[in-house]
Amino acid sequence: MKVTETPSIEAVNPATGEAIKTYRTLGSEEVISNIENAHQAFQHWRTTHIGYRSQLMLRAAAYLRQNQDRYARLMTDEMGKTLKDARSEVEKCAWVCEYYADHAANFLSNEMVRTDASKSFINYQPLGVVLAVMPWNFPFWQVFRFAAPALMAGNAGLLKHASNVPGCAAAIEEIFRESGFPQGLFSNLHIPSGMVETVIRHPLVKAVTLTGSDKAGRSVARIAGDALKKTVLELGGSDPYLVLHDADLEHAAEVCKNSRLINGGQSCISAKRIIVVSEVYDAFLKIFKEKMAAVKFGDPTDDTNDMGPMARPDLRDDLQKQVSESVEKGADCILGGKIPEGEGAYYPPTILTEVAPGMPAYEEELFGPVAAVIRAKDEEDAIRIANDSVFGLGAAVFTQDLNRGENIAAEKLNAGSCFVNGLVKSDPRLPFGGINESGYGRELSYLGIREFVNIKTVWVK
Ligand code: NAP
Repeated sequence: MKVTETPSIEAVNPATGEAIKTYRTLGSEEVISNIENAHQAFQHWRTTHIGYRSQLMLRAAAYLRQNQDRYARLMTDEMGKTLKDARSEVEKCAWVCEYYADHAANFLSNEMVRTDASKSFINYQPLGVVLAVMPWNFPFWQVFRFAAPALMAGNAGLLKHASNVPGCAAAIEEIFRESGFPQGLFSNLHIPSGMVETVIRHPLVKAVTLTGSDKAGRSVARIAGDALKKTVLELGGSDPYLVLHDADLEHAAEVCKNSRLINGGQSCISAKRIIVVSEVYDAFLKIFKEKMAAVKFGDPTDDTNDMGPMARPDLRDDLQKQVSESVEKGADCILGGKIPEGEGAYYPPTILTEVAPGMPAYEEELFGPVAAVIRAKDEEDAIRIANDSVFGLGAAVFTQDLNRGENIAAEKLNAGSCFVNGLVKSDPRLPFGGINESGYGRELSYLGIREFVNIKTVWVK
């Protein structure tokens, strides 16, 4: 008898290497039926009062909080972030649900414009079914920051989550279902990335958003472009953190350490290139190294640890290759840089100095706990190095001269978010997104909810 293997997605705990659970992937007929169900749910949902949608979104926030420990544990088990980080992530998801529940009506209300008409205005209508292709690094937050505004605007959502967090994907569908959202309005598709094209090309799918690597972004944008579907892309980054001569070095080093190691270094916005002016380079590096060396990493369920393992052994091995190649090309590894013995996808806090053009640590995104510290001659040189990148997601500058810091952030750094004396972070109230190879479009704030709507002109004489 011929045995046909059912394709599946397996969740594996990166701290132990143990298999957690296997999920069956959907066949193409099931995918199409999910798309049709989402479209059907959308037809009714778009006619509902926005106050009703707010009530359900507030229920989703409450449901998240009630189940905070369970969802945090799921994230930790599937991708290795510490439980304390995972709990905060659940709380942040509840916040974004509440934010759009409270503000969507205002963000989408008609805007009157005086013209030659007796009345003319801008009106916002939902687009329909939107596909979200999402990464594993913030497996709840990335999805909620898409879903909360998209659903509040009256759209339906389909989720293709990263293959290593299938339990998180299923849990997010559960949250919307249990909070009373209509059946099929938000559904999770357990599919491999090869099936994304089928979904994008389906006539009932109107738009796609992807958060992930530039490689995946290019592929999705190519297909969506061919099918003439709207896209938002949130891709990688190599954020520069500039430390100027008058910076509070203790504060700058603390923020750089936190930014570089948050989520085990697996954050799109993170201090990946720390550019320090020569005058304070040695003093900064001494403090920074002490702080990085003091970080405790290990079992992510132990609240005394600051960092867990990386999300997968293959990602850890790729990072090691980038470090080794940078060292072969002349970088100096002054901390970490070696895969520890034993089980689990662990990688230590690592510092590379003498980082220069042509090295992976200078040119590429390092998606793990590795900081490249680069010496700049002066402020102008630091700004030049900061902008010498294909990316443009976040950037930060440290100086006690707030006017100068503000001017550099606003006028001189090429990035979607520029912070002065603080850690670049996402916040529901502020737009988030990149330029250049970090992608295009914006999430969060009133701008995020207007990405997946028909911005309609209405003219009446
Ligand atoms: P990834 O490998 O690009 O995967 C992201 C998602 O895209 C996953 O669901 C993946 O599915 C899917 N995918 C991969 N290749 C695809 C293709 N050719 N066609 C369609 N879908 C495809 O990225 P990752 O490793 O999960 O995440 C890390 C990257 O995300 C980093 O570069 C990070 O900077 C970036 N990121 C950016 C932001 C931002 O807001 N800008 C936020 C977080 C992360 P499978 O898992 O099934 O392959």
